[in-house]
Amino acid sequence: MNRRVDSLRSRFQSLRIDSFLVTNPPHLRYLSGFSGSSGAGLVTPRSLRFFTDGRYAAQVKKELSGGWKVHVSPSSDTLFRMIRDASVLKPGARVGIDGNTLSYEEFRTLKKMLHGVKFLPKAGVIEEIASIKDESEIRSIKKAVEITDRTFTEILPLIKPGVRELDIAAEISYRQRRGGAERDAFDTIVASGSRSALPHGQASSRKIGRGELVTLDFGCVVDGYHCDMTRTVAVGRIGRREKEIYALVLDAQQTAVAAVRAGMRTRELDAAARDVIRRGGYDKYFRHSLGHGIGLQIHEAPRISVQSGSVLKAGQVITVEPGVYFPPLGGVRIEDVVVVTPRGAAVLNRSPKELITL
Ligand code: ZN
Ligand code: ZN
Repeated sequence: MNRRVDSLRSRFQSLRIDSFLVTNPPHLRYLSGFSGSSGAGLVTPRSLRFFTDGRYAAQVKKELSGGWKVHVSPSSDTLFRMIRDASVLKPGARVGIDGNTLSYEEFRTLKKMLHGVKFLPKAGVIEEIASIKDESEIRSIKKAVEITDRTFTEILPLIKPGVRELDIAAEISYRQRRGGAERDAFDTIVASGSRSALPHGQASSRKIGRGELVTLDFGCVVDGYHCDMTRTVAVGRIGRREKEIYALVLDAQQTAVAAVRAGMRTRELDAAARDVIRRGGYDKYFRHSLGHGIGLQIHEAPRISVQSGSVLKAGQVITVEPGVYFPPLGGVRIEDVVVVTPRGAAVLNRSPKELITL
């Protein structure tokens, strides 16, 4: 934990701040180990203060590591008052904040409580540090991926005509938890037939039909770390066009995975997949970014999109997930979790990517 805190402190000078107030729960977990949903951490050059309310008094003792001094407030709405009463922040202090997750109301309260302290939104700072995973973090993500892979194998026999998408989603959730997951990483997507043309088609009461594509996008959480996988399967015989789209998306996904290199721009990686789909004539139908970083949050840095200016770094864990959505016929997406290594990429998912016909 201290290496992470030191990494944040080492940026204070260039950010022109003298401390950082951490309020985003995944960031708090990253820096302190605290897995609760209400708290604030104050990182100064020489001290670490942790503020939470009575509900977490016992948990905080068990989870915090790295020398945080704990302050427990009677209720969650007095957190900011407690920060004031701790008298660590003096008028004139320049404090970085998780600018992209603090609500405007919280920001106003902070300013009112700590009169004379300057709060400076520093979105992306902790995100950038947290984007590079250490071995134990990668181990947790791997465990999550293994559970998700196993769940995929187990649910394949359940996908058949007449079964509702929601029933498949429930089976996925149940099996992931039985397999050792804390919870689902996000609301499972099961999108069949024409609904597979919806990139984010959450499971509905629609019954799967024969001759349809079914897109399953799901994942789970282990030790707070997420995984995320998509496979598209065929139920019975599908048409020539669906097969053509499947082959194209598979080619794009594999081409992009093979292109992953530390030091490349993430938009170049996006282009590697998009070019394949463009050559196949379907670029109009690939209407989202190629992927995202993944860790304590399901979507985190780096973004892998057409506009992104970020550069891939060894140790980042990302998804590679091209898709083609061709309404009303259907859509195909294939997604793996990939670790960026100095020489290329290590794909964590083991589930097959060739078209599976059930
Ligand atoms: Zn996904
Ligand atoms: Zn994803």
